[in-house]
Amino acid sequence: MKMNCKKCGNDINELDLTEEQKFEIWGMVKQDLKLFATKKIIDDFGLNHKEAKIIISHINSEFGKCNCCENDELNSENIECQKCGAFNYNFTEPIFNSEFCSSLEYSLDFDNLGIDNVVGYWCDGVDCYPNDLKSLSKENIKKHKKVVTRAWIGKGGQGIYEMTIKFGKQSIQNYLSGLNLIDCIPDGEPEKWIKIEPENNKIQVSLK
Ligand SMILES: [Zn+2]
Ligand SMILES: [Zn+2]
Repeated sequence: MKMNCKKCGNDINELDLTEEQKFEIWGMVKQDLKLFATKKIIDDFGLNHKEAKIIISHINSEFGKCNCCENDELNSENIECQKCGAFNYNFTEPIFNSEFCSSLEYSLDFDNLGIDNVVGYWCDGVDCYPNDLKSLSKENIKKHKKVVTRAWIGKGGQGIYEMTIKFGKQSIQNYLSGLNLIDCIPDGEPEKWIKIEPENNKIQVSLK
């Protein structure tokens, strides 16, 4: 289906994106890697460069915020801005996002794990782009109940760890219904939900 943008007059292709495609393309736009995002659109959808560029220019990088004006009240996907008439894809925020990853990073308390050789460790980041983006689909979360990604951990926060994030009842439910995962990070009692094997550069965290 084609839509028309009243602001620039271009016809817009409706995009039927999988969760992974959406996550990847939107992630590139947010990081200002528009050339890569354009190339991906060309490759994945067989569109020409001009069509792909038009698509990219209508992806707003933050849900709600128009790509053309100050309006920040866009409340659904594929929407025309009520103020300036510009078309916005207005993708809803992925659930496994950088905000969740940084909350998780700050919740990792290695000093109170009861393991002497990780006292003084800290986490310098959890990668919100797992190698296997397909693992972020709702079907996969439902089936495998986990996401495997990377985290930077150590005394200087720089060792590269394989991090397995296990989903519990509440987090699966939140994921499937599009709700925030931050509330599913346990508070306190780190020994109950964090398992670390520094000798293998592995860590496992269990969400609620
Ligand atoms: Zn436009
Ligand atoms: Zn607008």
